[in-house]
Amino acid sequence: MSGAHGTRHDAGSTLPIGVALLGATGSIGHTAQRVMARHRDRFRFVAMTANGDLDGLAEAVAEWKPSYAGLASPTPRSRAGAGAQVPAGWGTGPGCLVEAAQHPDAAIVLNAIVGAAGLDATLAALEKGKRVALANKESLVVGGALVQRAVSEHGGEVIPVDSEHSALLQCCAGRIGVPKAGAAGAAGGAPLQGLLPLAGVRRLIITASGGPFRTWSTERIAAAKLDDALQHPTWSMGRKITIDSASLANKALEVIEAHVLFGVPYDRIEVVVHPQSIVHSMVEFEDGSVMAQMGVPSMELPVLYALSYPERLEDDGVPRFDPVASGTLTFEPVRHDAFPTLGLGIAAGKSGGAAPAVFNAANESAVARVLDGSLPFSMIPGAIEAALSRHAGLPGDDKSSLLAADAAARQTVQEF
Ligand code: NAD
Ligand code: MG
Repeated sequence: MSGAHGTRHDAGSTLPIGVALLGATGSIGHTAQRVMARHRDRFRFVAMTANGDLDGLAEAVAEWKPSYAGLASPTPRSRAGAGAQVPAGWGTGPGCLVEAAQHPDAAIVLNAIVGAAGLDATLAALEKGKRVALANKESLVVGGALVQRAVSEHGGEVIPVDSEHSALLQCCAGRIGVPKAGAAGAAGGAPLQGLLPLAGVRRLIITASGGPFRTWSTERIAAAKLDDALQHPTWSMGRKITIDSASLANKALEVIEAHVLFGVPYDRIEVVVHPQSIVHSMVEFEDGSVMAQMGVPSMELPVLYALSYPERLEDDGVPRFDPVASGTLTFEPVRHDAFPTLGLGIAAGKSGGAAPAVFNAANESAVARVLDGSLPFSMIPGAIEAALSRHAGLPGDDKSSLLAADAAARQTVQEF
């Protein structure tokens, strides 16, 4: 592997590769720790951060002894009560995310923060030419163009942790950045687009479990309670992405994520409902052949692949796939009338500018209100639509305009 990534897979290097884990106390943060526990010879945590969970981060730090730890929230929570002290030497405030992301001993930054709050850390890591193993899809939705610029200027790379995008990457192993024979390059033809540019692909087919309301009537969804929305049928995840999976906002974020990652136009990215969550996504090539990546639903495999890419490491932590026991695999169209959030997000992606950032901020704000009980689940699409109708046309060429659009969208949803 070349220059900027020299510390990652140096031939002959015996040192475990340094990993910074941002969002160590969350669902993906814990998944990452389980994976790393099986590969201590290969990887070590050199930095860990969390938002406010002082006890959770202290536990992780005691286990892994990273040289850097940081809590982003100014008001940490602890079983010890309000007066609990952050240990001496820990970083504090949002700046600790950038410090961890740029830690000199980290070759890989695993960004498992939830929400647009993860963007700065993604950009900071890329500015230092690091690999970002990215669970924080919101980084790409809000700041796709900024991330693209950081990669081209500084030579870092983004490897997705999201299971669908990991599946797409695995289906295309060996084809990333390879121009179509006789078409691209200086001789003519469109230059390859995307962070992991992909030529010769006819369609990306992203699977969706359909969430807890897949079979519910529109009327029944209109009366859905928070507890109903938190019952995901196939995946156990953080609360925000669980709500996003029930509204299909998550799938909208993932379509935008796929577009930014692979540079495939929106009209060639499709979503299909697959309730068993065994096929994690599919790629149709231009000769008509379709590749699918399969396995039991576990985030451990995409996390491991993002660390080891382009290699595969021997690992037996993920339950073996048994095709007979997995039973019948089924596929259904998306019910767009029952799940309008998906269409709103894809339209925002197609509009570009600040629209994807407005979609994301409005969704984050609406989900926060659903979680605190001040907005019914069924009002999420209406709240997002209100923000998009007011702010989707805002400029989004740089960080400050994106932040302004993000703030305006949140304000609209707070008043909704
Ligand atoms: P989570 O809520 O379980 O954990 C989030 C983590 O981020 C926690 O460690 C928290 O302390 C930290 N955090 C939250 N807000 C922060 C802030 N403002 N500043 C700094 N740190 C902050 O979430 P999760 O389910 O682990 O999801 C994390 C990311 O991974 C999300 O972008 C999600 O969409 C994506 N993802 C998750 C899964 C999954 O299985 N959980 C699957 C695919 C993608
Ligand atoms: Mg996903």
